Amino acid sequence: MRLIDHFVVGGNGGGGGQATRHGDVFNPSTGQIQARVALGDQALLDKVVATAQEAQLSWAATNPQRRARVLFRFKELIEQNMQSLAELLASEHGKVVDDAKGDIQRGLEVVEFCCSIPHMLKGEYTQGAGPGIDVYSMRQPLGVGAGITPFNFPAMIPMWMFAPAVAAGNTFILKPSERDPSVPVRLAELFREAGAPEGVLQVVHGDKEMVDAILDHPGIAAVSFVGSSDIAHYVYKRGVDAGKRVQAMGGAKNHAIIMPDADMDQTVNDLMGAAFGSAGERCMALPVAVPVGEETADILREKVIAAIDKLKVGISTDPEAQYGPVVTAIHKQRIEDWIQTGVNEGAELVVDGRGFKLQGYEEGFFVGPSLFDHVTPDMSAYKEEIFGPVLQIVRAKTFEEAIELPTRHQYGNGVAIFTRNGHAAREFAGRVQVGMVGINVPIPVPVAYHSFGGWKRSAFGDHNQYGMEGVRFWTKVKTVTQRWPDGGAAGDSAFIIPTMG
Ligand code: NAD
Repeated sequence: MRLIDHFVVGGNGGGGGQATRHGDVFNPSTGQIQARVALGDQALLDKVVATAQEAQLSWAATNPQRRARVLFRFKELIEQNMQSLAELLASEHGKVVDDAKGDIQRGLEVVEFCCSIPHMLKGEYTQGAGPGIDVYSMRQPLGVGAGITPFNFPAMIPMWMFAPAVAAGNTFILKPSERDPSVPVRLAELFREAGAPEGVLQVVHGDKEMVDAILDHPGIAAVSFVGSSDIAHYVYKRGVDAGKRVQAMGGAKNHAIIMPDADMDQTVNDLMGAAFGSAGERCMALPVAVPVGEETADILREKVIAAIDKLKVGISTDPEAQYGPVVTAIHKQRIEDWIQTGVNEGAELVVDGRGFKLQGYEEGFFVGPSLFDHVTPDMSAYKEEIFGPVLQIVRAKTFEEAIELPTRHQYGNGVAIFTRNGHAAREFAGRVQVGMVGINVPIPVPVAYHSFGGWKRSAFGDHNQYGMEGVRFWTKVKTVTQRWPDGGAAGDSAFIIPTMG
């Protein structure tokens, strides 16, 4: 059986062959174990941090233009390897190959943004802030950074993190999800091939044991985390306790508000892709539809039922398939349990995706599309994230009732409104308590030169991912106040706080 090893200095040796613990990596389309991943421990991390610390000194001393050139070459290599990377990604995650390309592309766009790192690190300068005094500030790297990433975007999210971190002069240790670890390793190999010195980007695999070792390690200055909310909160608290800078993105339950004046055909098309694409395993999926008014709700329901009827679920390499299997059998079970909970709580299960079997792939982790109507805010199936191909309709009587739903929800990652009314859209965007808003845009993941981040239990910490927020997270500001006396008469001692007045 194939062994997926760590990518650390000293070659792919990393000790994976001798690792005492391993995890199973499945092919979700067939349900078979296709590889084993080495699970690292404290001893491995100690070694990896030591080499990252050593590499960081010369990497930080490399001028930013040269660091950017590595990113330029990395971008070219990813583009050349796009097809094989996408197939590898799809084979472990289960998403269809074209969607896997999107996963890689959205990460690559952050790499492109980071190619302008010399410009972004320029700092600020004030000449003559006081008599003969100049003040300037610079952004310096933090040292060694670490990223802990979820299974659902095994290319994009690692690139969100390591591109700005290394561009800014940090070295980086990536701990990807142990469920689909191959693409993160490939990314690190390509980064090395692009000219990054050894130790600038290393990959260690592991589970909670490795995460805890990272959070407690005194040699790691900052941790970026993306995953589910309880773990994000835990990572945030434990990392901050250990004196680190931490950003920790969590789960989501995004709402689509559908106003009576919306273009219903376009809205349903958008909603289908956003609710069921990638089997609903996206933190920016739209699993809750909130039609405003009974008439809107009835039209929406009928159109969604018809669209579900045409949905094609297939293996990840089927070019006709709109979505593939979910990531593991455990996750499939969890989604089906949530569907049962929704039924038990009194929601109307209009389309039941449980028990879905794909001919020839009976052991695959497939879940058919499910639709609930008459879901209410008190139901736990509404309050919690399901992370599967399950769309819930929550009927609202008015715009005010509709805006309150995402505003009061424990998660605040993304939200979308579908309307032709600019005033309603503007009002909605201004008032809703959610971090990323789409106006007639179902999945408003911001472009690489803005930044990504939710509110409430969808993110812990101050800085968003990527864009200038990413650069700020991965750097610390140093401010220098300088004076160059001309050697004339010495000034008197000053015993009051200096002012420039
Ligand atoms: P997860 O929380 O199970 O795992 C995320 C990471 O944490 C993995 O690297 C995993 O190894 C590690 N981990 C797992 N259990 C741990 C524990 N007990 N202690 C310490 N570390 C642990 O998340 P997942 O299932 O891989 O990903 C799906 C989740 O990620 C969903 O909740 C989704 O909404 C969220 N997500 C959020 C964003 C965002 O930007 N807000 C983006 C993508 C995914």
